[in-house]
Amino acid sequence: MRNAFLAAAIVGVISIGTAAAEPYPSRTITMVVPFAAGGPTDTVARIIGERMGRALGQTIIIENVTGAAGSIGVGRVARAAPDGYTLSIGHWSTHVVNGAIYPLTYDLLKDFDPISLLPSNPQLIVARKGIPANDLKELIAWVKQNQDKITGGTAGAGSASHIGEIYFQQFTGTSFTFVPYRGTGPAMLDLVAGHLDIMCDQSSNSLPQVRAGQVKAYAVTAPKRLAAAPEIPTVDEAGLPGFYISVWHGLWVPHGTPPDVIAKLAAAVRESLADPEVQKRFADLGQEIPPVEQQTPEGLHAHQKAEIEKWWPIIKAAGIKAE
Ligand code: ASP
Repeated sequence: MRNAFLAAAIVGVISIGTAAAEPYPSRTITMVVPFAAGGPTDTVARIIGERMGRALGQTIIIENVTGAAGSIGVGRVARAAPDGYTLSIGHWSTHVVNGAIYPLTYDLLKDFDPISLLPSNPQLIVARKGIPANDLKELIAWVKQNQDKITGGTAGAGSASHIGEIYFQQFTGTSFTFVPYRGTGPAMLDLVAGHLDIMCDQSSNSLPQVRAGQVKAYAVTAPKRLAAAPEIPTVDEAGLPGFYISVWHGLWVPHGTPPDVIAKLAAAVRESLADPEVQKRFADLGQEIPPVEQQTPEGLHAHQKAEIEKWWPIIKAAGIKAE
């Protein structure tokens, strides 16, 4: 019995030794997208994931784990093994705002190790194409006249789209009904189909539909027009001065991931973001690549921490609640 135990222990030691010696990455990596397929976070994940996989010599597969404004998918990664095979892609609302709204079972700073800041994009104020308004002022007037009938699509309480639409209501003194989805990918499909009236959603999700003439764009929530869509006015030009929202993305792993694995992942992000093909794809979606010094674990950590300090008091004061 004792010998059997000893033998098992030796086998255990040998197999741990083999596992530890395996170069990273030696198998498929999973990137957890906390929103539905086809939406803005999913799009960023697929562009960067495909290119990072080539840099690392392994496939990165996307797993969409949706619900509760991304807090379920992020929680999945918090509990995953810290071995570099499960990555958390998210953004300003999943890795900052959700901490002020949801009773999370994980800590957004302590339970994750940062890899790199990823591109950011503003939102577009968009509406279904049957709406008679031709510019933002007319849209606001139309919303005021019809607010008891109007619906706005969101990716759940506290998601970027929800916060954008809450601010839209506050800025314009209107109120309409929010309809939560598991991501703004499916919400955008309903806007195109005319089942929803309005949305504030990331340019990366709205622009393809605007270009296809499927939805109307009224303004970009930034002080500057998008190079990818210079015909869309800024909120300052269109009549909602100062209504700025920018959604930055980031990549994390579970806390305790070995430093050499983190370094390899960060290098793969940098290589990907330096690739002209990746740069072009992001630029077409209105996504701005962060400066190289922020494409680091330190850059993401400092940015996320500063954003938590800035936004939590604002979000808590706004009284936004989990649904
Ligand atoms: N990031 C989007 C939002 O918060 C949702 C999504 O990626 O589908 O509105």
